[in-house]
Amino acid sequence: MKAEIISIGTELLLGEIIDTNSAYLASRLPLLGLDLHFISTVGDNQQRLVKTLKQAWQRSDIIITTGGLGPTEDDITREAVAELVDEELKIDPTLAQEIQNVFTKYGLEMPPNNIKQAAVIPSAQVIPGRGTAPGWWLEQDGRIIIVMPGPPREMQSMWEKQVFPKLQQRMRGVVIISRTLKTFGLSESKVDELVNPFLTTSNPSLGIYAKSDGIHLRIAAKGHSVTEAQELIAQREADIRAILDDYTWGIDSDTLESIVGALLMAKGLSLATMESCTGGLLANTITNAPGSSTYFKGGLVAYTDKAKTAFGTDAQLISQYGAISAELAKAMATIAREKLGAAIGIGLTGVTGPTESEGKPIGTIFISIDNGHGQQSSTRNYPGNRLQVKQRAVISALFELRRILLQEEPCT
Ligand code: AMP
Ligand code: MG
Repeated sequence: MKAEIISIGTELLLGEIIDTNSAYLASRLPLLGLDLHFISTVGDNQQRLVKTLKQAWQRSDIIITTGGLGPTEDDITREAVAELVDEELKIDPTLAQEIQNVFTKYGLEMPPNNIKQAAVIPSAQVIPGRGTAPGWWLEQDGRIIIVMPGPPREMQSMWEKQVFPKLQQRMRGVVIISRTLKTFGLSESKVDELVNPFLTTSNPSLGIYAKSDGIHLRIAAKGHSVTEAQELIAQREADIRAILDDYTWGIDSDTLESIVGALLMAKGLSLATMESCTGGLLANTITNAPGSSTYFKGGLVAYTDKAKTAFGTDAQLISQYGAISAELAKAMATIAREKLGAAIGIGLTGVTGPTESEGKPIGTIFISIDNGHGQQSSTRNYPGNRLQVKQRAVISALFELRRILLQEEPCT
């Protein structure tokens, strides 16, 4: 079944608010097996809205609108839908009383304009809402029009409690589910090239998205049962893992810090950090994982050379190799481990811009991990602005740590 979303409001066209309603609905329609073909945005203009509704009527089975159900003159969705199906709006007394009750509940006088929200057309079923704007469910000629209010909380509550269950009953038989594989270490174009043969199939389908923690691959499959769709996903996941396994670190809601945290806990190991250019972001990210206090001893943020030496870095090492060097990252990892009494120390130094430093270009990052038996170091160069370089450096450090923790033998 083809679905279409129409978001209504001049403020959307002016860029004053972002159309989060469409994004919300778009992410929920696949769960019902509905194919979203169009999203349109129309201003508060009855003529243009009727035109858009007519077009949707021609090409879609399910039309969902949000917005334009307020009490003011410019809210014209009811009028436009009435015009589309050529029916007359009439005030529903029960609805008018319900709206009045909302005002009474809050001890407010109902402005006369609000009576407009009680207007319905004969073929519309009223969908109760949590605000004063009820929605409409309308069926004609095998098509369904669902009219919902604009405020996101009202719309989402109406969707979850009323509209979704009703649509689910209608759509019984088709499900779409998805799974996201999260990778790090390859560029978006490289991932695209490696999984290219899978990008053209429609069931399961594959989408590639660049995110701050790496490249995500979203596999979506449609089936007549959850099991059928899951099998399609499992097969495609295996195909992709066969190609990208070294780079794949998690799925769906996994974060690198939670994955690393779980590994540290499972192995009974503790962690400490000493970071420079990331200004504490590494320690901050590690502590985003619930339970991190069981393995994270602490982090030293040594931004200047003076701070580095104050924490115990050899000044001689800095003058010999520079503060942005593999040697310094190694020394920092060891200091973190020893000073904070952890099993593993991470040292991180680099250049985040705005200019190059010590002759090293922006984006140069040195990471070292010391587990007491040896060290593993890496040098990277990341494109992007200051914040992006910091984020990538942190993700890179956690990704390296994960790799080391997964190795059977400790680093040598
Ligand atoms: P309306 O139902 O048109 O009176 O909308 C009321 C309020 O809901 C607007 O002022 C916005 O703050 C919000 N809103 C309306 N449409 C959207 C949308 N598509 N996405 C996010 N917020 C919206
Ligand atoms: Mg509006």
